[in-house]
Amino acid sequence: MDIPLFARAREFGDKTAIIATEGIFTYQYLLHASNQVATYILDDVNDLQQQRVAFLIPPGFEYVATQWGVWRAGGIAVPLCVSHPLRELEYVIADSGATIIIAQENFETILRPVAQSKDIRFILTTEMFDARVDNLPVVSTDRPAMILYTSGTTSKPKGVVTTHQNIQAQIKSLVSAWEWTSEDQILHVLPLHHIHGIINVLSCALWAGARCEMLDLFDAQVVWTRIIESELSLFMAVPTIYTKLITTWEAAESDLQHVMSNACAKLRLMVSGSAALPIQVLEKWKSISSQMLLERYGMTEIGMALSNPLHEQRLPGYVGKPLPGAKVRLVDEQFNLVEPGTPGEIQVSGSSVFLMYWGKPEATQKAFRDSWFCTGDIAVVENGSYRILGRSSVDIIKTGGYKVSALEIESVLLIHVDIQECAVVGVADPEWGQRVCAALVLIEGASLTLLALRSWAKDILAVYKIPTRILILDQLPRNAMGKVTKPEVAQLFTCE
Ligand code: AMP
Repeated sequence: MDIPLFARAREFGDKTAIIATEGIFTYQYLLHASNQVATYILDDVNDLQQQRVAFLIPPGFEYVATQWGVWRAGGIAVPLCVSHPLRELEYVIADSGATIIIAQENFETILRPVAQSKDIRFILTTEMFDARVDNLPVVSTDRPAMILYTSGTTSKPKGVVTTHQNIQAQIKSLVSAWEWTSEDQILHVLPLHHIHGIINVLSCALWAGARCEMLDLFDAQVVWTRIIESELSLFMAVPTIYTKLITTWEAAESDLQHVMSNACAKLRLMVSGSAALPIQVLEKWKSISSQMLLERYGMTEIGMALSNPLHEQRLPGYVGKPLPGAKVRLVDEQFNLVEPGTPGEIQVSGSSVFLMYWGKPEATQKAFRDSWFCTGDIAVVENGSYRILGRSSVDIIKTGGYKVSALEIESVLLIHVDIQECAVVGVADPEWGQRVCAALVLIEGASLTLLALRSWAKDILAVYKIPTRILILDQLPRNAMGKVTKPEVAQLFTCE
């Protein structure tokens, strides 16, 4: 039996699957191209038998055909990040034990020498598409399909292995909750080495028989143009992207703003996730687009677990309830279930949860309690809806015995008219245990002193939550996904 994603694609036949700078491609053509890729990489072997195939290809048709080709050949897909420096690429290639590297020609000069030095087979995408087409192996859905690298807070990134079954469960949960259909059209603006872009956008679209319009890189101006010109029904992004879209909207002439807002209002759903959505961003976005963003919570290891509802009221600051198929619980430090209203660690089980960390049996074992994956995120359930308080490691700050949420403080600081972005961290302090410290990016031309900030904040925040140190930065340190890297922020304070 074929993997269901491909069996479904066969049924969608001549419907458009991918719209990219390279052209417009049907499901039928995508299947054909992925068969060519599979045939080429198999190279007369019957089945790759879980060999890892690392590929570095910008978002577009070649990426999708390659991902599907690796799966159809019985391999494990290891997508590399186009913006990573060589050191990080080498780490992923070595850690995953890739036996094949596929690169789009722009990356040949970087990756061919890596392949040569490690005696790994190197393939350029251009070589694969005029290959003959052979019969392909039957791949059972319990086989590993993909390794995505995710940053740990303390150690090197770990490879999260998901099976075809895991991926299918992750897709089906979202397709059902957000009512994807073959009538949908989504604009893809996210990186394709991360779960958000790979599963929530690309794979859900292709499972549903929808059209996925792919931008090779994010550009706020281009996104707005596509929102105006394409017949989009869906859009999904991280909060930083919404912030950039807001800035671009604000810089536009009022006539154009009107056109932008009207176009946006026509979409049936806009989703935010992968990081906390500040309420100010949610409200600003609503005022310019008439769209109440749907915030959801998930993780590379578990797929998506919590979501605000599609039809009922969405609560600002909350990430909703468990998605179909996801079992979610909150536990205290002794792993006892907590009462509603009491913060606890989020644990998740279900068929969406990953198989293992690649080559790290101890880390895998440590991450689970029975069959529950321990996310390290702290949340509280209020009126049946989950609110994320932060990660147990960095975003929960213990100061003077009080447990405070960095995210909560950040959302308050963002109300300040002079603050454009901020990151709050706990910095070790002999007197307080940890001090609340805030790295701030101010709007152009503004200035702010600690004294002025503290005086402003005292009416909004409990005194122990108000930052006792601030640093004004030009930009916050971020990883390739655009997420603020809190350990680096904390280090800036310790280096001061
Ligand atoms: P990743 O595996 O890169 O997707 O990161 C997952 C982590 O992102 C989670 O463990 C959370 O810490 C964070 N995260 C994801 N969604 C949200 C959200 N809606 N609000 C706050 N944090 C989130």
